[in-house]
Amino acid sequence: MKRIKFLWLLCVCVISFLLPDSLHAQLHHTNQDLPCINKNYNLLAHVAVDSTTREPLYSSEELDSMVSKLNMFFSPICVSFSLCEFNVMENDYSLGRVVSEPITTNQQLLELKTRFSLRRRINVFFLDYIRALDCGSSTYQGILTLNDANIYVERRCFDDPAEQVAHHLGHTFGLLNTFDPTNMELVDGSNCATTGDLICDTPADPFGQSAILNATQEELDLIAQNLLDTLFYNSCEFTYEIRDPNGQYYQPDMGNIMSGYPCKCGFTNDQFRLMAETILMSTIKHF
Ligand SMILES: [Zn+2]
Repeated sequence: MKRIKFLWLLCVCVISFLLPDSLHAQLHHTNQDLPCINKNYNLLAHVAVDSTTREPLYSSEELDSMVSKLNMFFSPICVSFSLCEFNVMENDYSLGRVVSEPITTNQQLLELKTRFSLRRRINVFFLDYIRALDCGSSTYQGILTLNDANIYVERRCFDDPAEQVAHHLGHTFGLLNTFDPTNMELVDGSNCATTGDLICDTPADPFGQSAILNATQEELDLIAQNLLDTLFYNSCEFTYEIRDPNGQYYQPDMGNIMSGYPCKCGFTNDQFRLMAETILMSTIKHF
């Protein structure tokens, strides 16, 4: 069943790329189970410049196509995005590289927010590199706050900008990662409401859990190899041969946007519902 759901997500992604725009709406509105909340967000893009060429890391055309991809990801709940500002941070070419000196990474991100962010907007910072953060950062439920809907993504990430931004919009709209290394979800789903991402239609995801699985060195090598294969060959096929405490093999949705795998493709229905709830709550409060 879960396999079918994953394949459905994959199919929607593939088919959507092949269809003309006029058919997109039709395709995504066939799902009557999801709320349609008709919300458009203006995104403010703050783009760092390359420290060598001094050119912006992305052109406005590249960000327009990123927005089109975002709109496809979120269209099942009728949420869309527009690029309302393209701000090149050209005054200081060092802003794109967030390292831990002379002030900490978090302090530097805070400084970017203080200097450039506008309140009541979703601000997206396109940076070159952020030390010690894997593919960016955002605030969980940031949309419920006045000034924490800030997303930082980095060029040096295996995901493309749309996939990274979609993942962090997921956090901003109240989703957790599908994996939680500190809280093991069982494959049979019996503890799905209290572990992992607390959502039950996303299968248990062992990403990052090797430390608590008492895995043997051989198993750890397999896991590492699987991730490397996925990164380099983009196979997106899960061959992680390790079982949960009940002896069942993990079969996560590698295509889930909230996963840690470089195969991001879609959200599940329960993820859409939770995002819709959070967004509706935020419209009462601030946005
Ligand atoms: Zn995340």
